[in-house]
Amino acid sequence: MSRFWSDFVHDLEPYVPGEQPRGANLVKLNTNENPFGPSPKVIDAIKMATTDRLRLYPVPDGGALRQTIADYHKVDLSNVFVGNGSDEVLAHVFYGLFKHAQPILFPDITYSFYPVYCQLYGIEFQTLPLADDFSLNIAEYQRPNGGIIFPNPNAPTGRLLALTEIETLLQKNSDSVVVIDEAYIDFGGESAIPLTQRYPNLLVSQSLSKSRSLAGMRIGFAIGHADLIEALIRVKDSFNSYPLDTLAIAAGVAAFEDRRYFEDCRSKVIAERDLVSNAMEEMGFEVLPSAANFVFARHPQYQAKDLAAALREKGIIVRHFNKPRIEQFLRITIGTHGENQLLLSELDVLV
Ligand SMILES: *Cc1c(COP(=O)(O)O)cnc(C)c1O
Repeated sequence: MSRFWSDFVHDLEPYVPGEQPRGANLVKLNTNENPFGPSPKVIDAIKMATTDRLRLYPVPDGGALRQTIADYHKVDLSNVFVGNGSDEVLAHVFYGLFKHAQPILFPDITYSFYPVYCQLYGIEFQTLPLADDFSLNIAEYQRPNGGIIFPNPNAPTGRLLALTEIETLLQKNSDSVVVIDEAYIDFGGESAIPLTQRYPNLLVSQSLSKSRSLAGMRIGFAIGHADLIEALIRVKDSFNSYPLDTLAIAAGVAAFEDRRYFEDCRSKVIAERDLVSNAMEEMGFEVLPSAANFVFARHPQYQAKDLAAALREKGIIVRHFNKPRIEQFLRITIGTHGENQLLLSELDVLV
């Protein structure tokens, strides 16, 4: 608090990111980063781009990266927007596509950044409860709205919604923008990107932070009808014309070019996720079916908060959300095989 703050800032309730401990030798399973480093080709590309040309501004629209993403997803350049992490892309979405008279809709249990953007930009919202098994019922979303957004797979549950359901949702909401936040789609779902060719009200966002091991570079993108993309560009150019730096653009291009490395890492994460889920179920945990790079689980006999604290004592950090309906759950990121084994052996002692 300071007398120099605006009234607006006094009232802000910012998003609280997962802990990023410095230096400590901890097993970090709390923020859904990839346990494997970026492709060696990405590291080479960053080195190659580290020249005295860094004195120049980068291209304002993401240049080669925007084209690479368009080619990769078989869409036109005008259908692609790139930003400084998908969080920034989403911020522009809220401001550029959601600020309307009607409230926007999202699930009661979802990415906790959404209500923060709503507060920042003064957007009304209404949350709709997930079913008891944490699945999303699209019938709930048939009411007047100023937009709809949810992650698929959802966070922090990991549950996937079928593409056919998303298509029905689009048909029933042809007058508002529907945003599918696909931060985790590469770990087990089918992307809605092809549907953007047929539904001008659909925008799909993705991130290079998780499935492409580049959380530290901050690269995200959105794909949709050129009119939606134009709105995002207008907001971007009213805020920061150069959200992606020269090194991020080089890294992003190389990450998409090395398909083999990407496929390899994601298969390993998926195989480990199934291993961790099964082992935890054997210990008595209820584990939600996950299509992401994390599991969401509760144990009927133990408090999630206590389990998280006990794991922390052993040097393993997982995420616990002190929120209604999910306070008994832990969200655990899938690590390397060694990290997962360590997690499982510690859990085995605790429960
Ligand atoms: C991680 C995450 C993001 C943000 O990803 P960045 O590209 O790192 O900003 C967006 N949405 C969801 C659901 C996420 O989990």
